Amino acid sequence: MARPAGTIRVCLVGAAGKMGQESARALAQATGIEVVAAVDRSHGGESLRSIAGPRAPDLVIEEKVGVALDTHEADVLVDFTQPGAAANHAESALKRKVAPVIGTSGLSAQDLRDIAQAAAEHETPAMVVPNFAIGAVLMMRFAQAAAKWLPDVEIVELHHDQKLDAPSGTATRTAELIAAARQAQPKRSEEMIKVEGVRGGSVAGVPVHSVRLKGLVAHQMVMFGGQGETLTLRHDSLDRTSFMPGVVLAVREVWNRTGLTIGLDDLLV
Ligand code: NAD
Repeated sequence: MARPAGTIRVCLVGAAGKMGQESARALAQATGIEVVAAVDRSHGGESLRSIAGPRAPDLVIEEKVGVALDTHEADVLVDFTQPGAAANHAESALKRKVAPVIGTSGLSAQDLRDIAQAAAEHETPAMVVPNFAIGAVLMMRFAQAAAKWLPDVEIVELHHDQKLDAPSGTATRTAELIAAARQAQPKRSEEMIKVEGVRGGSVAGVPVHSVRLKGLVAHQMVMFGGQGETLTLRHDSLDRTSFMPGVVLAVREVWNRTGLTIGLDDLLV
């Protein structure tokens, strides 16, 4: 689709949150990108700089996405809010021919179908990105390659204790990619489970274990077992700046795509 000429104007939603603040600073520094509106249901009327610091754009936080999109000309909406809200924000953007880049995790399969349909209907591209860290995208790619040869695999994902959804969007996406890549699901011998949940949850037949602890940011191990060997892929986001090159890349690239793109993988060629 035709990329907007000139500066890419961004409406940033969830701007007062941890990822929103980091994105406000990163997008303000990126060449050819301008944050024209900041939205957060808390902190309405406050200065974004008073929350995110002097490197953030000089904007007053607004409370409603629809109002912000109706009063500012934007090309891209970036969303870091919460699962119940992000899909509605994407649809509000698409209706106005603004391309959503959704970083919020925990969207359902139905949400993705709805966003894809709205993107087609309004002829506006959309991206849903479970993980913006380049290393995490490569981890998913490598996991998919390994699953073809080592189908016995479990995922351990570890996040800070404020994370609302479990399993993480990255773990879910990794499990789906593994399930699509491996020829058959390995057969397990009968297990005697003494504590409910101790073997994790199943995503597309892949066991996923979610750890939530203070001090963590976002980490994942994909552990493959073979005959007499194991292979462990591990990615660590050590702070939230790890997501920013991916956020900037998605904002720059979304208008070069058509329909709904999931993940950054296609952009890393
Ligand atoms: P946070 O709680 O610090 O921030 C969320 C912000 O969104 C809050 O300020 C809240 O007031 C605001 N908000 C919530 N609902 C809203 C609504 N309906 N309208 C406007 N504002 C609303 O959370 P966070 O750590 O910044 O994470 C946000 C999301 O991003 C989570 O889903 C998290 O899992 C996800 N995340 C994604 C990536 C990625 O790479 N894709 C990386 C880290 C976090």
